[in-house]
Amino acid sequence: MAGNWKMYKTPAETRAFFEAFAPLVQAASHCEIVICPPFPDLPAAVESARGTRILVGAQNLYWAKEGAFTGEVSGPMIRAAGATHVIIGHSERRQYFGETDETVLKKTVAALDASLVPIVCVGERLEHRESGQTETVLCEQCQKGIVGLAAPQFAKIVIAYEPVWAIGTGKTATPEMAAEAHSVIRAEVRKHFGEKAAGDVRILYGGSVKPDNVKSLMAQPEIDGVLVGGASLDAVSFARIVNLPS
Ligand code: PEP
Repeated sequence: MAGNWKMYKTPAETRAFFEAFAPLVQAASHCEIVICPPFPDLPAAVESARGTRILVGAQNLYWAKEGAFTGEVSGPMIRAAGATHVIIGHSERRQYFGETDETVLKKTVAALDASLVPIVCVGERLEHRESGQTETVLCEQCQKGIVGLAAPQFAKIVIAYEPVWAIGTGKTATPEMAAEAHSVIRAEVRKHFGEKAAGDVRILYGGSVKPDNVKSLMAQPEIDGVLVGGASLDAVSFARIVNLPS
C-alpha cells in the first residue's frame, strides 16, 4: 500500500502526518506500507518512520550516480537518505517531464543498483482506452520499459498499473477493468520471465483510490496492492485504505 504525495507537504507537515498515521497502522501486518514524499521531506519521513512498519520512498531519480546534472537526485543519494523505494515513470513524469519507456528502464536499473525497490508505473491514456488500444499500450510499455531487465532484476521490482484518465480525476477503473489490465501486464511478464515471476510480481492499482473503493479493488485476486495519490495525504484516509483490505 503505497502513498504518492506528489508535490505536497513540508518537513513539518510530514512529521505531523507520521505522528497521526503511524499509530493508526501499527497493527497492519498484512501489507507493506510505503510513503513517497517530495525529496526535501525524505529526512523528516525517514526519522518519523523509525521504529514503525512504514517504509519511505522517493518519487523519481536520475540514472547517473553523480555528476553535472543540476536539479537531479541519484539512487545512491536517495538510499543514503534512508529511503527504500522509488516511484519510476509516473504518468505525470511522462506527461510533464518527457519521461519515456527508455528512461524508465534506465531509471529502474539505476534504482536496483542503488538497492532501491522500483515501483514502475504503466498505464494507458483516455484516448488509448477509447480507441481500444489499452492492451497494445500496456504491452508496449512493458516491452520497452521492463522486459529489458535481467530476471534477477525483475524479481525485485513492483509494477503499478495507473490508467492516466483515473489519476486525480475521481474516475476509478472498475475493479473488473483494473483486473483485466493487470492480467494483460501479468501475461506479458509470463511471456518474458516465466510463470513463477508472473505469479510473484506485485502489481498495484493506482487511480483515485479512496477508502470507499479500496475494498472492491483489493477483492480482485489480480490486484496486489494500491498506489494512492490524493487520499494518501490525509493520515486518517490513508490509514483507512491500508487497514480496510485486512
Ligand atoms: C497517483 O498519483 O499515483 C495517483 C494514483 O493519484 P490519485 O490517487 O490522486 O488518483
